[in-house]
Amino acid sequence: MDWFRRKKGISSNERKSIPDGLWVKCNKCNEIIYRRELQKRMFVCPKCNYHFRVTSREFIQYYFDEGSFQEFNQHIKPVDPLKFKDSKKYTDRLKEAQKKTGLNDAVVTGDATVHGQPVVTAVMDFSFIGGSMGSVVGEKIARAIDRALERRVPLIIVATSGGARMMEGALSLMQMAKTSAKLARLSDAGIPYIAVLTDPTTGGTTASFAMLGDIHIAEPGALIGFAGQRVIKQTIGQDLPEGFQTAEFLLEHGFIDLIVTRQEMRDTLARILRILWPKNGENGRPAQTEEATGTAVNTSMHPGNTSPPGSDQPASG
Ligand SMILES: [Zn+2]
Repeated sequence: MDWFRRKKGISSNERKSIPDGLWVKCNKCNEIIYRRELQKRMFVCPKCNYHFRVTSREFIQYYFDEGSFQEFNQHIKPVDPLKFKDSKKYTDRLKEAQKKTGLNDAVVTGDATVHGQPVVTAVMDFSFIGGSMGSVVGEKIARAIDRALERRVPLIIVATSGGARMMEGALSLMQMAKTSAKLARLSDAGIPYIAVLTDPTTGGTTASFAMLGDIHIAEPGALIGFAGQRVIKQTIGQDLPEGFQTAEFLLEHGFIDLIVTRQEMRDTLARILRILWPKNGENGRPAQTEEATGTAVNTSMHPGNTSPPGSDQPASG
């Protein structure tokens, strides 16, 4: 039975020398992919196009011009006004998340450019307590909107969120009203807001700023919805249609405008910005159109989606 016995010093040390997650398994097609390869492909599965969840840092790298992102309001930190405790103290949860992600809370805001066109952006981070929206997320997004107003440049919010942060109770729900009111001011000023919805965008985020864009773009396969499927199913007592709450389903039913792959997102954002905000170019002149020739236009970008939802579409909150 020696064969089964562990020899001293073999396994544990050697295994640790191999970095965690050198290979990654695709959540959709189960393909085993070399992590480096996946990184090069912006964490999109080469076999089935599954878009892995990535951090705010990666979204910033993929969507905006290299080195253009200048963070602001990074010092704002969450507090625990309700002294909340479930299985863990909220303060401990915060400390853990801060240590794990290197962030103070679940959104990063800053100035950036897309093909040279200035924007203000807020990028959420699902790895920080499920991208939940508490007071800090709401405040930072509100301030980002204020900044877009002040600078008169378009706003891009990259959403990924499990919803409101229950550990902050009603204070987290108030962020929905706050961010929505700020966006109304942006809209009154005629400044464009593009919402990019990534996997998952749910709950209070969907019920506020994520669905208030002038243009809604989603990554393929993203889960987008308000309540969870099980809750809806129990409430209405009916089976839900196939693919319910996916980006593709929402596009078909007129809730979003476009589905764009991660690799094409920056080009697409640049193209839309030039249309919506031509004065965004340097020195107030219209931006130059140096690209947009070789890139394949996503076939989902067609005017058909601008028509109102069909009459068979049930009203939704
Ligand atoms: Zn795959």
